[in-house]
Amino acid sequence: MDDAGLEALRKAGRIARKVRERSLNIVRENASLLEVCSILENLILDEGAKPAFPCNICINDVAAHYTPIIGDTSIIPSRSLVKIDIGVSVDGYIADTAVTISLDPVLQPMVEAVNTALLEAVKIVKPGVQASMIGEVIQRTIMSRGFKPIKNLTGHEIARYNLHAGLSIPNVQTARSEKLQLYHVYAIEPFATTNDGGGEVVSSETVTIYRLNTERIKHEKLGEEERRLLELLHEKFDSLPYTPRWISNFGFFSKIHEKMVKTGRIYSYPVLVERKGKPVAQAEHTVIVTENGCEVIT
Ligand code: MN
Ligand code: MN
Repeated sequence: MDDAGLEALRKAGRIARKVRERSLNIVRENASLLEVCSILENLILDEGAKPAFPCNICINDVAAHYTPIIGDTSIIPSRSLVKIDIGVSVDGYIADTAVTISLDPVLQPMVEAVNTALLEAVKIVKPGVQASMIGEVIQRTIMSRGFKPIKNLTGHEIARYNLHAGLSIPNVQTARSEKLQLYHVYAIEPFATTNDGGGEVVSSETVTIYRLNTERIKHEKLGEEERRLLELLHEKFDSLPYTPRWISNFGFFSKIHEKMVKTGRIYSYPVLVERKGKPVAQAEHTVIVTENGCEVIT
């Protein structure tokens, strides 16, 4: 990464942090999910950046990949656990960060468990550290506080215009030996559930977030309508995730969009829920690996 790239990444990080902090003031009982996410996404735009993916707002046992749909009327329930996950792109340089807000004091220790797990994980990041070691630290921190890590959700490497690039950063110890590399960028994101939870997520039927499968598209002949939607998606979102809410005339494209999802030309991210329906907490930072450790940019 050159100096301009580094500067763009740091800027994305600063904006992501600011937006995350803002979420603490607007997440409250009875707030509209759609309003919360719109405010946060608009804040990113006001800062001169773009959302790298739709603002995720995941409640209780919903762990990841929910963003409000068009006309969403849902509100934040009382005593719920609310996860806000934000991505900011500055010229394709992405910062990814998340926070959990507990509206039930009983669940606050689980929020503290993931926050501490994230801090402990960040402490051991340096060039050459095994990703599995980070998983081990996260697992140990979460379990020592009486909670269970979500074993099939991971952090990830981030490359330019590529949110999930290369290496995964597990939330438990694994048998793999891949190592973190100098100047590479990683999102570390511990997830935990209660001790009676399944400790893993499963896909639900609901999909609210999509991404253009650019590899599939290159090699295929497309109809006129498909080509038009493809051009629109490519121009607006490049290869980053999007939601229909971001497309003003989505109704016009909805049938062809559905078809392109079925044929695999558009990739969909199902909403992920805790297997036993238990509440899930998450914390996430993006870091750049430096010679002696790492720089937390969010
Ligand atoms: Mn995230
Ligand atoms: Mn992430």
